[in-house]
Amino acid sequence: METVTKMSSPKEERSFRNTFPDFTSDALPPLNKNKELEGDFQSKILSAIEKLLNTLDEKAEDDGKDYSIYTGSSGHALLHLHLYMNFPGVQDQADLYKALNWLKPILGRLKGSKPSMLCGISGPLAIAAVVYDKLGEKKISGEYVAKVLALCEEVCNDFSIPDELLFGRAGYLSALLFLQQHLGPQVINNNMVVKVVDAILVSGQDLAKRKHYKHPLMYEWHDKAYLGAAHGLAGIFFILLQVSDPSVQKQIREFVKPCVDYMLTLRFASGNCPSSLESTSGDKLVHWCHGAPGWMYMLVLAFKIFKDMRYLEAAKDCAKVTWERGILYKGYGLCHGTAGNAYSFLFLYKATQDPRYLYYACKFAEWCCDYGKHGCHKPDRPYSLFEGMAGTVYFLVDLLHPQNAAFPTFEFNINI
Ligand SMILES: [Zn+2]
Repeated sequence: METVTKMSSPKEERSFRNTFPDFTSDALPPLNKNKELEGDFQSKILSAIEKLLNTLDEKAEDDGKDYSIYTGSSGHALLHLHLYMNFPGVQDQADLYKALNWLKPILGRLKGSKPSMLCGISGPLAIAAVVYDKLGEKKISGEYVAKVLALCEEVCNDFSIPDELLFGRAGYLSALLFLQQHLGPQVINNNMVVKVVDAILVSGQDLAKRKHYKHPLMYEWHDKAYLGAAHGLAGIFFILLQVSDPSVQKQIREFVKPCVDYMLTLRFASGNCPSSLESTSGDKLVHWCHGAPGWMYMLVLAFKIFKDMRYLEAAKDCAKVTWERGILYKGYGLCHGTAGNAYSFLFLYKATQDPRYLYYACKFAEWCCDYGKHGCHKPDRPYSLFEGMAGTVYFLVDLLHPQNAAFPTFEFNINI
């Protein structure tokens, strides 16, 4: 923590000055033959995980209202599923039962029309389906899968539902991809996925035509043209580009590519990316939700698919600005915190195998290991998955095996 100091002006106090030394090849923590962390740095991360988990066990609680993955109970359930998947055999199925302890009080009280995974009802239902499946309770698992699928008609036909990730159709699509990843295509067949993709494409074409954009797809949330991962184009396009069904993949790619080209023209000189088209706040936010870290996923995947070097160069510009301005005063969380920004380095590392980006993620992790010691702003939900401590733990667990790391509810088995 002694290597960072706050930016000078209080008004500009969004990030700490990053004074970690820049990458050199001998600075990287040691990796074993499976490219997993080992040695002292691995021990440091493991001990931070243990310490933070003890705090979560003691302090995190169901408030009786918030069931969401984003800030509520099912976020804690998802963390325990993650621990079970990553530390197999350590405590048998203890983490699956801990996940159920978070889920059981909320599964009976799910209400509201939000169908998305992160902030809506498909999140807790999908996690329940996977946890029961891992426990061998296939019938109960199937009942929760059916409840997720039952939302599909409404998602596709209700025009009042937005398309973005946190509350909308892309967020519902992420629940289907999550179930496919864990339970297989025999449980979630592609017909459902294709239906939702079609609805998102129709909605995007409709708005682009109505507002006379030159690119084929456009989306808004609350009448604002957001561009980042949480509410905007970067998040929607990243989810769409992960769909592998051949019947829609060609169309998705044809539509999305000109949109990504358009987005390239919107970037700031620093390499950062605007939060919305109408944004007047300028080059300020460097978060997963708004700004370069969230755009990086879309750009890297677009590079992998289209082999266009401009996308990789733009992603590297995003990484540069995230390294310089991504240690955030807002804290250590995933949505607008340092752990969330570190995840984007891992995505670029996985795509390029350039150790520079693994080093960046490790340095941000090192900063997260001093959780609470930097005078950061305390989030409203300090123990939650997307604003608080549970998200930091989720990231640190993934850093142990960077090749398999995946930002939760956003990044699914990508073999494109
Ligand atoms: Zn955020």
